[in-house]
Amino acid sequence: MLPGVTTLREPLTRALGPKTGKALETQFGLHTVGDLLRHYPRRYYTRGELTDLSSLREGDHVTVLARVDHVTLHPMPGKGPRSRGEVIVTDDRAKLMLTFFFRSAGAQYAFRRMVPGMVGMFAGTVSSFRGRLQLIHPEYEMLPGASPDADLNPISTELAAEFATQMIPVYPASAKVSSWVISRSVKAVLDPLDAGEDPLPAELRERYGLAGRAEAIRAIHRPLDQADLDRAKQRLKWDEAFSLQAALAQRRLAAAAMPAMPRPRIAGGLADEFDTRLPFTLTAGQVAVGATIARELACASPMHRLLQGEVGSGKTVIAIRAMLQVVDAGGQAALLAPTEVLAQQHHRSVTGLLGPLAARGQLGAAEHATGVALLTGSMGAAARRSALADVFTGDAGIAIGTHALLEEQVQFADLGLVVIDEQHRFGVEQRDALRAKAADNRPHVLVMTATPIPRTVAMTVYGDLETSTLTELPAGRSPIATHVVPAADKPRYLQRAWERVREEVAQGQQAYVVCPRIGGDAPDSDEAEYPDDEDFADGGTIPRGVVGGRRQPLAVLDVTAALDQGPLAGLRIAVLHGRLPPEEKDRVMRDFTAGMIDVLVATSVIEVGVDVPNATVMVIMDAERFGVSQLHQLRGRVGRGAAPGLCLLVSEAPPASPSRERLEAVAATLDGFKLSRLDLEQRREGDILGAAQAGRQSSLKLLRLLTDEDLIGQARQEATAVVSADPQLAAHPALREAIDELFGQQADYLDKT
Ligand code: ADP
Ligand code: MG
Repeated sequence: MLPGVTTLREPLTRALGPKTGKALETQFGLHTVGDLLRHYPRRYYTRGELTDLSSLREGDHVTVLARVDHVTLHPMPGKGPRSRGEVIVTDDRAKLMLTFFFRSAGAQYAFRRMVPGMVGMFAGTVSSFRGRLQLIHPEYEMLPGASPDADLNPISTELAAEFATQMIPVYPASAKVSSWVISRSVKAVLDPLDAGEDPLPAELRERYGLAGRAEAIRAIHRPLDQADLDRAKQRLKWDEAFSLQAALAQRRLAAAAMPAMPRPRIAGGLADEFDTRLPFTLTAGQVAVGATIARELACASPMHRLLQGEVGSGKTVIAIRAMLQVVDAGGQAALLAPTEVLAQQHHRSVTGLLGPLAARGQLGAAEHATGVALLTGSMGAAARRSALADVFTGDAGIAIGTHALLEEQVQFADLGLVVIDEQHRFGVEQRDALRAKAADNRPHVLVMTATPIPRTVAMTVYGDLETSTLTELPAGRSPIATHVVPAADKPRYLQRAWERVREEVAQGQQAYVVCPRIGGDAPDSDEAEYPDDEDFADGGTIPRGVVGGRRQPLAVLDVTAALDQGPLAGLRIAVLHGRLPPEEKDRVMRDFTAGMIDVLVATSVIEVGVDVPNATVMVIMDAERFGVSQLHQLRGRVGRGAAPGLCLLVSEAPPASPSRERLEAVAATLDGFKLSRLDLEQRREGDILGAAQAGRQSSLKLLRLLTDEDLIGQARQEATAVVSADPQLAAHPALREAIDELFGQQADYLDKT
């Protein structure tokens, strides 16, 4: 390396010295100069603009720009040289108090730099004292400017230069490393930086009018003006989108080059027979998607397909037909379900739909029948042994199960197709574990999800899967009406909700009551296999237990008791949650399906896939505890038959609160795509990109999946072209390096199939 030159790969401990380097590493996980330069400012203060102090909230760690209003020094009687300094700063409207405690007279010296009329940056955690917001011992920097007494304001020339630009960057900071320490570190590496060759081809840069990389890196940290900043952001977004799409294109090519066993559709087999036995006509969408899948299964390279379709659009039938095609061709298929309840239901419905076709080895079985094995986490030893044997010998052409399917002891004779239902519940490793069970060839993979995925998310998160979408629901479905029941401000409405449940039951229909928690004494981890997807529905963002002094969310066991003795007395009520033993869950679902239970009080175990057409009403308690997409999934459980469905979202969230508005939005539309966009707006992008992003910092920092749709589409097209022409990127070393830099340590992130 040339002396005095810094590269993006250089460790920060070397570029900035061990102390600062270590601090940036422990506080923000920044290791290299490139990492630091991708730690972009959170916002920029324009010179002359002060922070809106009325927007501060207690507990926030803030960096504010404000003007010193007045300064007072209070001696502390009886405490010798100790004193308390009080500085009131203002944005010309609101005020904020800064409090300093001094142990000796000398310590007050620094404090004297705060001269009324001068502007400074102050950083600290907002607390309150006698109803007024304050920062105790904030870190601060006074900005250069006219001082009544130059001696009292010894601003270094370096600092003066730093704040000379129009826009002052404010970095995501912590109590230990302030925004201006980061700002100075950035400056220190930026000056001697050699950003290397530009990863974006020059021709492409020109066509899209993009800034060069070195210029963009400089401008995002030290913009001359807003236009300079916009140009930098646009360029750096391209880097993210282009590197990601190039990496995904490489993966698609590599996957297509893998060998897979072709499993062509065989006439006169189980698949044909299943079709003739179907009690309904397939929708046009089901036929079309089915044909695509049938064609891909017959190929010698593995299918990687994502099937999305609204709840109730009939994805399971498509999966069964695909599985039977593979069985007919001599292979086996595995269906991975996220919960035991759903695995059991799939098993019931597959064996039911197949009838004698699924009764291999039993009396009355069809001649070419196959077996359908069920494997769940807590089934009895004997049943488990027999299921394992059937899977091993190939007697079971179809294996249905939960994560238990992934265990080492599960060995297939010839696994040809992996179907993953309700995909968002499974992690990358789990999918890989199942895929690895195919002997020599890669199995075909079909991933199904009822959570509609906006196009941009599909292009980024699932960028290496081909996508099919079922857009229509089977005929004869009834619309679901959804209403918010404001239990706190209108208790009468809640009473009415229970009356509605009684009315439906009186007409022979059934009802669900959904609660966020199980209750009882044991630790509340419903569905032990997926501990984080219940109880608190918002993806774990809400901590367990009492939140902010609020009462605990309602629990299945408590609500059941209250309903049984109160508004639903006399009805047949049962409970369903993840803590029940598997036989019990299966029994409850069977009884409910058979109409022997009127009201099922459950956790969100019933969220995915549960299919009981006779259930027409669902009451969701503490509905604000659930995410938007989850509420949409839940209500998809009603309105699956001929009678209209009704979903009541009970909530104590006050009118016009964000929670209440979220619920109103769910009530206002049945359009899953609209709701998933809303969900996207309300979550951080990192949550959407999922666990794969955890650990290392998110590599997509500037790209916004909602607003950068055009850019992502263009980048995908351009990157695919570059990679098709040069799969190894031999002629694009800088791009190769950029991909490695952004995604190198998170291969998982790309491993989404
Ligand atoms: P999804 O998994 O997409 O939510 P399912 O596959 O569970 O939906 O289908 C929901 C219900 O609709 C099931 O009872 C299924 O048998 C039924 N179904 C599927 N396709 C059709 C169709 N074309 N016509 C009528 N009913 C259908
Ligand atoms: Mg389903």
